[in-house]
Amino acid sequence: MPDRYAVIGHPVAHSFSPLIHGAFARETGQDMEYVRVLAPLDAFVVTVEKFRREGGRGANVTLPFKEEAFRLASRHTQRASAAGAVNTLRFEAQDCLGDNTDGVGLVRDLRDNLGRAIAAARILLVGAGGAARGVILPLLDEAPRELVIANRTAARAVALAQLFGRSVEASGFAALIGRQFDIVINATSASLAGEAPTLPRGLYAGGALAYDLMYGKGETPFLQQASDEGARVADGLGMLVEQAAESFYLWRGVRPATRPVLDELRRAL
Ligand code: NAP
Repeated sequence: MPDRYAVIGHPVAHSFSPLIHGAFARETGQDMEYVRVLAPLDAFVVTVEKFRREGGRGANVTLPFKEEAFRLASRHTQRASAAGAVNTLRFEAQDCLGDNTDGVGLVRDLRDNLGRAIAAARILLVGAGGAARGVILPLLDEAPRELVIANRTAARAVALAQLFGRSVEASGFAALIGRQFDIVINATSASLAGEAPTLPRGLYAGGALAYDLMYGKGETPFLQQASDEGARVADGLGMLVEQAAESFYLWRGVRPATRPVLDELRRAL
């Protein structure tokens, strides 16, 4: 019997994770299978426990269960605690380890795939929801010159920044006028609605990168605006593949190459 893993979510049919982990397993010669599991909205824990009883070794957790997965885990990595959310579970004899690989996925995509140094960069993180919270600690670990969180509802940015102490600054959108950044990350859900956050113009320093956590065919409105302002742009597909690679490493102790899978997914979009 191959070792079993799954992505658990609601919905989950759209998930690229089986394709990504299947490719990683072939490339690294790991004997494992990876399936999609749809959990009813009111039965996440029951679904996880059933998968575990049936021989599951670990799982990725996607919307809307990442906070519930945090509560389910019996111990956490530091980055999961900072995120307050878990996207990777590893089942152990007595324990259930909860990790969050989203932030390191973003960092690897920025730094290794896109060649964008985070150390000493001025970073603007737009949004104050779960996705934004999940990437803050891994970004801070890279020692940026500054990290500003800006949110439409400024009070939420303030509350989020307070969790990370004085190394993070909070802002509303209007207060950004006149400032410049090397990396601007859209961690809002505006792109899902076909909208862009109403950021002031002129935020992009020379050679700046605009990065949207959302991915898909074509540019989001946020990336279109950034492009119009002369910024280099990237979507979150690389983050998706890199967070998967980190989960794979946590489970199997082997780090897969990500470039071939990223190229394959990009062609499939
Ligand atoms: P969330 O918790 O619901 O937070 C939503 C955030 O978006 C809030 O800060 C909200 O601002 C802001 N927002 C929504 N519509 C807006 C608009 N029209 N203009 C400005 N701000 C707006 O969502 P989330 O879980 O953080 O997810 C955010 C995005 O990240 C999603 O698109 C998700 O798909 C993506 N994501 C990608 C990856 C990846 O691997 N690439 C991983 C995780 C998440 P207010 O507080 O003012 O309402």
